[in-house]
Amino acid sequence: MCKNMPPLELAIQFHGHICPGLLMGIRVAEFALKELGISPDVDEELVTVVETNSCGVDAIQAILGCTFGKGNLIYKDYGKNVYTVASRDKGRALRIAQKFGGNRGPESQRFRELAQKGNLTADEAAEKENLTGILFERLMSAPFEDLFEWREIDFVFPEKAKIHATIQCAGCGEGVMDIRAVDTARGLICPTCLEEKGGQ
Ligand SMILES: [Zn+2]
Ligand SMILES: [Zn+2]
Repeated sequence: MCKNMPPLELAIQFHGHICPGLLMGIRVAEFALKELGISPDVDEELVTVVETNSCGVDAIQAILGCTFGKGNLIYKDYGKNVYTVASRDKGRALRIAQKFGGNRGPESQRFRELAQKGNLTADEAAEKENLTGILFERLMSAPFEDLFEWREIDFVFPEKAKIHATIQCAGCGEGVMDIRAVDTARGLICPTCLEEKGGQ
C-alpha cells in the first residue's frame, strides 16, 4: 500500500467498497490522528481496541496502521461501534463511541437493505450508487460530535507482540508456534491435528 495515498483512498482500497460503516471508521481514524497528534503506526506505538468486527475496522487498519497482523488491533466481540485508540508515545487513550442513531435515517436503512440483497436490478444498483453519494456527503461532512462521543481514558498498554519459537508438529510435520502446541502421547501436536484426531 502506498503511504502517500490520502487516508480516504487508502481505506477504500483496503476495504474494497465504499459503505457507511467504512466512512464512520474513516471519521474515527482521522479524528484520532488529529486529536492525539499522532502519525499512523509503524511499529506498535499505537494500539486500537475495537468492539466490533464490521466495516469500520478496516479504516482503522488502513489509516491508523493498527492491524491484525501486527497484533496492535485488539478485537472485543461486543457488537458495539466503539474504538479505543491509544498512543504509547503520548501516554494517552481516546475512547470513541458512535452515538446511537449516528448512522441511521432512511438512506442508511435503504443502503443496508440493498447491500444485503445481492443480485441488484439495474435500477437498484443505480439507487445504491446514488445513496452512496448522499451518505458520503452526509457522513464525511457532519460535525464529529453529531456522530460520535469521546473521552480520554486510562489505558493499560498490552506488551508488544512476542515472537514465539516454531516447533514441528509430531502429527502433520508442519511448523506450529510453541505455545499453541499441546503435549500428548504422540508428542507435541498442533491444534489442527488435535481437532482432527481428538488429541489421541
Ligand atoms: Zn463495507
Ligand atoms: Zn499437526
